[in-house]
Amino acid sequence: MKRFYFQLHFVLPFAWTLLFAPLFSLSAIDPNPAKNPTERLMQGNQRYATSTTVCHEDWSVKRSTLIAGQKPFAVIVACSDSRVPPEIVFDQSLGDLFVVRLAGNVVDDFAIGSIEYGVNTLGANLVVVLGHSNCGAVQAALKDMKFDNHVQEVVNAIQPAIAASKNDSGDRLEKAIKANIRIVKEKLKSSKPLLSKLTEAGTLQIIGAYYSLESGKVEFLDKQ
Ligand SMILES: [Zn+2]
Repeated sequence: MKRFYFQLHFVLPFAWTLLFAPLFSLSAIDPNPAKNPTERLMQGNQRYATSTTVCHEDWSVKRSTLIAGQKPFAVIVACSDSRVPPEIVFDQSLGDLFVVRLAGNVVDDFAIGSIEYGVNTLGANLVVVLGHSNCGAVQAALKDMKFDNHVQEVVNAIQPAIAASKNDSGDRLEKAIKANIRIVKEKLKSSKPLLSKLTEAGTLQIIGAYYSLESGKVEFLDKQ
């Protein structure tokens, strides 16, 4: 009998751990277990798309750790669309992403300067150009809509993507959106003096990604 209790004494704690570990681990999940920045984003998007987000709670604690500085692990070049906030769709927290947003995820000198700052000064080694389904800016360019204000500048910047994708088979809008992602990505990769140099040296990755409004999932179009 004594031997039985002895065994129970040792076995029970392990049994409890096995039974309840899944429950406790939910609240103790490391939001960023992957070291690779692309993997971190993919894992975050997987959490978001399956409604198992872990990053948007207890802001006060996180905020206090970031007062002295920031070290984002990726720069996201996204559309201004209110349905595609990068921190939410990648389930990342304060200080994780350096985000540059313009309608149609186009880039001008101000945007490129901001990206350079995120890469060169803050140390991010991944830039993601994030387009999305049903993008109104690309749709306006596709329909060749005319505006008597600065919206026209955005539409003009997307026109090369309309021309580049006009012979692509499949959904016309989706092809144009993906062509726009590709063109912006190439523009950044060849941007002098900084981004082209870092890309060629292999210290910076610039990749394209496509967010589906329908599924919530991000499709990484390439990893380099
Ligand atoms: Zn858009």
